[in-house]
Amino acid sequence: MLKNCEECGKVFAHPTRVLCEDCYKKVQASYQAVKEYLQQHPGATVAEVAQATESDVDLIYQFIREGRLSVVPKDAGLTCEICGTPIQVGRICRKCRGELDPSSVRGPQPESRKQPDESRVRYLDQIRRRR
Ligand SMILES: [Zn+2]
Ligand SMILES: [Zn+2]
Repeated sequence: MLKNCEECGKVFAHPTRVLCEDCYKKVQASYQAVKEYLQQHPGATVAEVAQATESDVDLIYQFIREGRLSVVPKDAGLTCEICGTPIQVGRICRKCRGELDPSSVRGPQPESRKQPDESRVRYLDQIRRRR
């Protein structure tokens, strides 16, 4: 499938990538440089990282948003998209992520509609007694 590179507009073919080979390599190289710089300079700001690695500030923010960096610049300014709590990685804080965890909520039903097992047993009892 042919598509246009999001960065330079060049036509290329790849099933999942949105960047052409050249731009993808550039982003990967920047990512490596940013990651390494932050590991060596954990207190660095976004501007410092951009300057030191010759990367685009937007690109660094993109890495941060994607949660790809284990160390983020100290002024990354990430906040949870749901509650606004400052966070280090990703888009949603740990608390909200816990609430969104599909294993803690079964299906699209709201919490209040879940019937406790006890009342279900009682209901089955009533049916049995009626017979
Ligand atoms: Zn490109
Ligand atoms: Zn939150």
